[in-house]
Amino acid sequence: MLEIQQLGMSFGGVHALSGVSLAINSGRIYGLIGPNGAGKSTAINAITGTIVPTSGRILWHGKDVARWPQHRRARSGLARTFQNLALFHKLSVRENVTCGAIHAHDDSSLRGVVDTALDAFGLAQIADEPVNVLSLGTRKRVEMARATVANPKLLLLDEPAAGLTGSEIAEFSHRMREFRDQGGAVLLVEHDMSLVMTLCEHLFVLDFGKLIAAGTPDEVRANPAVQAAYFGA
Ligand code: ADP
Ligand code: MG
Repeated sequence: MLEIQQLGMSFGGVHALSGVSLAINSGRIYGLIGPNGAGKSTAINAITGTIVPTSGRILWHGKDVARWPQHRRARSGLARTFQNLALFHKLSVRENVTCGAIHAHDDSSLRGVVDTALDAFGLAQIADEPVNVLSLGTRKRVEMARATVANPKLLLLDEPAAGLTGSEIAEFSHRMREFRDQGGAVLLVEHDMSLVMTLCEHLFVLDFGKLIAAGTPDEVRANPAVQAAYFGA
């Protein structure tokens, strides 16, 4: 459903992405990995419309969305979370989650959809708390809940597990598998290699803005170019 062709992004002289091509299908969990500065967040930003790529095509259900504004992509089923979180800190948990649902549901179903998500993510008890008093793990759950109420077809998650406890990570993995089993696709950017290797069915590896490998976790782990990128072997 998503096909990226020869995606390029330059910031001044820095080639954050060069000639990256990859495809994503529904009902699967994909991982996007690579060393710091490899271009992972830039790729998510380009796919979701936070930035406009310098070159290349982003085909989403066959349409090139590379120049669509962010809100239009979100409404068409591309939802994301941010590496550094982007919540409305003074608004309540319920208000933040409602922001994700407004465009995807009519007034009569909105409250029910939000309540269901608050329950599912264990946020019902703290629905009226402002998010700025919550722990990092809880704020990440709020951001995930906000992304999922928009009825996304593809969830792009930028380091969702960083700073979470072991039980929060297990809960997160469970949610992602549930979403996948309902036909959703996930593109996960994550540093926790044991999580990536257990949760993802297919991996893409970036290094210095280039796609250096793709395949199953076992194939990628055995790839000499990947070992060199990570360990300088
Ligand atoms: P990753 O998420 O894999 O750690 P990024 O996508 O954040 O990497 O960054 C890739 C490269 O692009 C880095 O060299 C980074 O410094 C550069 N970069 C990212 N965003 C910007 C920006 N807004 N302006 C200038 N350089 C940027
Ligand atoms: Mg990043």
